[in-house]
Amino acid sequence: MAHIHDRIDFAVAVFVVHDRKVLLVHHRQLNKWLPLGGHIELDEDPESAALREAKEESGLEIELIGERPPTTGCGTRALIAPRFLDIHRISPAHEHIGMIYWARPKGVSSHPDNQTAEPVRAHDSYQPRLAGAEHHQIRWCTAGELDTLQPALDAAVKWYCLKAIEEVSNCKWPVPHRTACGLTFGLGPEDLNSDNRSK
Ligand SMILES: [Zn+2]
Repeated sequence: MAHIHDRIDFAVAVFVVHDRKVLLVHHRQLNKWLPLGGHIELDEDPESAALREAKEESGLEIELIGERPPTTGCGTRALIAPRFLDIHRISPAHEHIGMIYWARPKGVSSHPDNQTAEPVRAHDSYQPRLAGAEHHQIRWCTAGELDTLQPALDAAVKWYCLKAIEEVSNCKWPVPHRTACGLTFGLGPEDLNSDNRSK
């Protein structure tokens, strides 16, 4: 992992959830279980980095979940906001600002009321591909399986995993969709009702 700046880089972490399972990799160099992710390169935005890293590290096409406000003018493209942000130390001299996203494999809708969604594909479609040069293993984990991983999952990563499983499975956010006027929104009016949010 060649760093980009000397002291602080921007990075993405992508918690992909499907069928109440979260996708994790056992990173070779760090010897840790982590979500998909990596540096945001100098020529890309955070969303592009998240989609690229997910594809490179799992072979899966994903869609990010979150709110995308309408674009308000030429030359402006609204981006899906990360669910969380952090800054974490990679080495004594280097830190990463982490943009933490929820995602699901492309084509899935877990929203029970979404009649326009594509049919859910067979689970085999979401079989991840191991990027063997970087990772020992890649797997889907249920909430219960998080405690069985070796080496043990970091507490912070476990917290994000549980939060992602809960929120994505309860479909707190539908996949951003196109409206008739061509603008893209992440939330429909019904989703702004806090009663519909995750329990
Ligand atoms: Zn870095």
